[in-house]
Amino acid sequence: MTSGADEGRRLLFVCDDESVCASVVGTLSGWSVTVAGNYLEGIAEAGSGSFEAVLGYVGMGQSQPGEAVAGMREAFGDGRIVLCCYPEGEPVTRGVLTCGADDYVICPIDADEFSAVIDGGVLAGERGCCGMSEAELRAMGVVARELGSTPSKLLGRLAEMVRTAFGAESAAVVVDGTTATSGQSSHDPVLREQILCGGRSLGHVVLGRCSEGAYGDDVAGRLAGYAGLLGELIRAGVDQRRYREMAYTDSLSGLPNRRYLMTFLERLLANVARDGGEVTLLMFDIDCFKRYNDECGHGAGDEIIRGCGRLFRANCREHDVVTRFGGDEFVVVFWDKGGRRVVGSSHPRSVLPIIDRFRESLRSHRFEHVRLPEGMRLTVSGGLASFPADAVGARGLLDRADAALLRAKREGKNRVYLCGANGVESLGREGAAGSG
Ligand code: GH3
Ligand code: MG
Repeated sequence: MTSGADEGRRLLFVCDDESVCASVVGTLSGWSVTVAGNYLEGIAEAGSGSFEAVLGYVGMGQSQPGEAVAGMREAFGDGRIVLCCYPEGEPVTRGVLTCGADDYVICPIDADEFSAVIDGGVLAGERGCCGMSEAELRAMGVVARELGSTPSKLLGRLAEMVRTAFGAESAAVVVDGTTATSGQSSHDPVLREQILCGGRSLGHVVLGRCSEGAYGDDVAGRLAGYAGLLGELIRAGVDQRRYREMAYTDSLSGLPNRRYLMTFLERLLANVARDGGEVTLLMFDIDCFKRYNDECGHGAGDEIIRGCGRLFRANCREHDVVTRFGGDEFVVVFWDKGGRRVVGSSHPRSVLPIIDRFRESLRSHRFEHVRLPEGMRLTVSGGLASFPADAVGARGLLDRADAALLRAKREGKNRVYLCGANGVESLGREGAAGSG
């Protein structure tokens, strides 16, 4: 839902409470506000690059607001993220500032104060929480931005953060059998503290000698405080990876979804445009799929969708990306990891054997729990388009592959068409995709 001034500053408001939503949107009349009804949606929208700022509502009943904020930060890069809450929610909101938010405002929001906070002019929240200096909080903000990276990378960042904060020669963070160190590789442990999260031990943090003289008297207390924060950050990292996976995965087939496809494709095309190479997109759609639903039941239809994804995966190369685009439609991205596979081969014809293999295996495959009525055979139609020959961007490439698919459908189904300089070219019916 988008509301407010069309020409106004673009704000993404992440809020799961309709009445708060209505009140805040009404107040911020100078803003063009897009509302995301939950944090997963918010994370996906924040990554779209369409917003100047993100406002997140922290309600009383919300579970894991810190992880949600960390996810938003990951998706929104360096953009300004401000939280809002009612006075009773202030302690929770202050607690999650370190997970990646820049500031917070109290509801009901004052429009002028809000604009000032967005522009960084007013700090409603004190930053010196947990007795940490501004430099320490800044370092924590940098780590919070990388919560979704691999566990070993995150632990490495945390070890570095601890070593810097304590002025230690070395520091190590040990979690689930993984040890990440910062500073001197061999060190005499001087202090050790358990990392707890929700009462459960995740591992421990170790400090080596102080690089200048001796640690202060408060070092043990500070390290205990840090260990608590490390526990929260590690848990937030786990949650964020889970959120991201959920946001980018189709729940029926387990394949990457359209959102993942667009993100991956845009990045891939930018790299290929810079470094050279080709990318081919196949869009394929199950023929007469509605009939399977109608005659075999929706469960059988689901199994056919899952099976098609599995079969394509089994017949292509590991790095080819098979996604469920929606409904009974799939998109596959063929690209040349580490250079061309066969010397002299070129797209899109180099991928035709893969498509042939898939259609061949579809012909002989028996889908679990699906009894196709006599005479019904599962076939697909497809459209191919290549970068850079057929289009310059992700959207354009999809449009071209879609146009070729449409033509394949219109001209009788069970065939793959190729989009090319001379319009759309038939690559033949089933079993003859490679014949050109
Ligand atoms: P065409 O040959 O032209 O592709 O015709 P079609 O019958 O395959 O029709 P179309 O692709 O337009 O429709 C796809 C149908 O897939 C419509 C919808 O009811 C059904 N569908 C979409 N998502 C799902 C799903 O998750 N599970 C099941 N079982 N059916 C789905
Ligand atoms: Mg179909």
